[in-house]
Amino acid sequence: MPVFFIERDAIRNGTVSITGPLARHLKGSLRVRPGETVWLGESGGPRYQVRITATYRDRLTGDILSESAPPPRNVPRLTVGLALINRDHMEWAIQKTTELGVARLVPLLTARTVIRPKAGRANHLLTRWQRIALEAAQQSMRWTIPTVMEPVSFDTWCVDPGQDACRWLLWEKPGRTLLRNRLRGQPRPDAVTLAVGPEGGFDASEVDLAERHGFEAVSLGDYILRTESAVLAALAIVQYEWGNLG
Ligand code: SAM
Repeated sequence: MPVFFIERDAIRNGTVSITGPLARHLKGSLRVRPGETVWLGESGGPRYQVRITATYRDRLTGDILSESAPPPRNVPRLTVGLALINRDHMEWAIQKTTELGVARLVPLLTARTVIRPKAGRANHLLTRWQRIALEAAQQSMRWTIPTVMEPVSFDTWCVDPGQDACRWLLWEKPGRTLLRNRLRGQPRPDAVTLAVGPEGGFDASEVDLAERHGFEAVSLGDYILRTESAVLAALAIVQYEWGNLG
């Protein structure tokens, strides 16, 4: 069973009061009953083993049986700038990058982004993406929920994506250093930023702008990968060399 995230204020004097969507999920979908044990956690904080003591129409209560502190955070903090792609593939990429440890996911509007949030739908879309990240973080038993930011234009974002030492832009054009070779033997940094383009790829002018702001264009090899494949391949390569991300 996954570890379900709760807010700090759900806990009082060793008991937990579970409400909202999680209460409905535990009662309705998982049919949790008094006496059963569930695992609950605060994003970035402790994890609790909880025995359910009572269920009500829209609430469950439980007693904390044990508490575990989060592991030390000595992994690179990963930001992924992901160009918007079609709905299913975007949602799949959010789910998979969450499982692979992304800490912050920034949907990007680039020169060749075909998919753009419809007026008035941006909030609904962001809420949906945040829910997908939450559920993937729970299922993969992560200690933290990644942050999914509002879509932003690539030109704005790449100028200052945060003060991350390693900034890579995945570029499929020939002649670039392989990501693998860039990583090999490098000391593990505190933070990594990765930019992945849309189906139509980055404009050369976007690559130039990014390089002027500290990004290095790197290759994943000779094959042209789909956006969602490329981000996963890149995260797997980074994890292979530097271990878990977060
Ligand atoms: N412009 C590409 C073409 O020639 O058809 C399509 C772009 S590809 C579908 C989507 C994104 O995945 C690219 O913008 C890039 O960020 C990444 N990507 C795909 N293959 C790659 C490779 N071999 N090396 C580095 N990045 C790659």
